[in-house]
Amino acid sequence: MDHKRKPTAHEIEIIEARSVLQADYDQAKEDGDEDVMAGIREVVADLDAELREAGVKGPFPPLDPKPRAARKRSTRRRQEAPNLPKAKASNSTIGREYAGKYRPSLFLTLTLPSYGRVHPDGAPVNPDTYDYRRAARDIVHFAALFDRFVQNYRRVSGRKVQYFATVEPQRRGAPHIHMGVRGTDPRAMIRQLTEATYHQVWWPHFDHEVYSPGHMPHWDYTTSRFVDPDTHEPVPTFDEVMNLMDEVDDLEPAHVVRFGQQVDVKGILGGTEEAGRHIGYLTKYLTKSIGDVIEPQSNRAARHYDRLHEELCKTPCSETCAVWFRYGVVPVGANAKTQPGRCRGKAHRRDTLGLRGRRVLVSRKWTGKNLTDHKADRVEFVRQRLAEAGIAPQDISRFRIAPAEPGDPDVPPREYLIMSMVSEKIRQRSEYDIARMVPPDQDHDSRETVAPQQDSADKDAA
Ligand SMILES: [Zn+2]
Repeated sequence: MDHKRKPTAHEIEIIEARSVLQADYDQAKEDGDEDVMAGIREVVADLDAELREAGVKGPFPPLDPKPRAARKRSTRRRQEAPNLPKAKASNSTIGREYAGKYRPSLFLTLTLPSYGRVHPDGAPVNPDTYDYRRAARDIVHFAALFDRFVQNYRRVSGRKVQYFATVEPQRRGAPHIHMGVRGTDPRAMIRQLTEATYHQVWWPHFDHEVYSPGHMPHWDYTTSRFVDPDTHEPVPTFDEVMNLMDEVDDLEPAHVVRFGQQVDVKGILGGTEEAGRHIGYLTKYLTKSIGDVIEPQSNRAARHYDRLHEELCKTPCSETCAVWFRYGVVPVGANAKTQPGRCRGKAHRRDTLGLRGRRVLVSRKWTGKNLTDHKADRVEFVRQRLAEAGIAPQDISRFRIAPAEPGDPDVPPREYLIMSMVSEKIRQRSEYDIARMVPPDQDHDSRETVAPQQDSADKDAA
């Protein structure tokens, strides 16, 4: 910014509006609300253009901070490919055909390993020996394990395996995944695949807590980094620890997650009663929040979930997680505003026991629709829900729309236009929220509510 002159009141207003929008943008990003994000991006681009026009020199902080330069990864930390046969790749998305016309599908259930014997309500038989640490770490890295499974599946089958999957918690609090796969493969192959699939977590090791809440590193303004509360020595950053790890020869990953022994594989034919029941499994949990799904069945189960939650609070959820401070590591991106030890990530929440937003995972070619189709579906879906709730779009057929000429006295000030755009968005959003509270028609196709998530969910799954 140009420091030679004082910004005008008008410029300060724009800059303030921009910072409010940044906060909204971050929230929308956390919620995965692409529409709101796109809207804010447009408004901010306009604001920046106006600031520049007014002579304020950029660069202005980007809404999405630039990704860090990728650390050159040591070959030691590469994910090893599991020992699996590799089929010749084909573009087919479907599986084998039987008797010239039957093309069955598979229904798989993948679970995590045992952490100790449990009662039917999910509470451990022996809470003292139950492996809570492993259970919590597996929860945090479950999504990455599933991504790895799909990659391996595609490699082993040689086809672009298409699936529809839902993640849900078991009574013991571990996630498992129901997966409908188009086409069939030999059961033995699926078992071999499940056994061979694993995900290595190449992070600094986090087995020993160095700092505890109330006695955390603090920000040192002279050196601009976090220091030990007693010695005032700098606390190493995530990247510094990783670089150090590259020097070690026989380095072990911080954690390895794999599936449990229990794999359920069923072949099903479309249109049969059995197929309907399995689709029921897949959709059963979509209408519930995860919090409802893991309602404890007993006092001991509630104590079990509390204990698991306690462990999740001590488990770093990402490279940027502020929980890293506990283990004497400054997380990626930490600055003076970071509160050591405290992370708002979904992985640490009690109500979902660490399960994050990705409940429904659908491969890109499952429906044959592309992103534009899904977007159009979504617009139509929103319109229908609003209509059901009796909210009609404003009739603009009587209006004549023409671009405003420069200096037109009827054009309101720019910041007014921006703020009214923002409030219009908020109004539309709340109308839609109200519409969603109105129960939909009985015969309304509930699967439609799933469609909007498909491609966005697949982006990180693919
Ligand atoms: Zn976290």
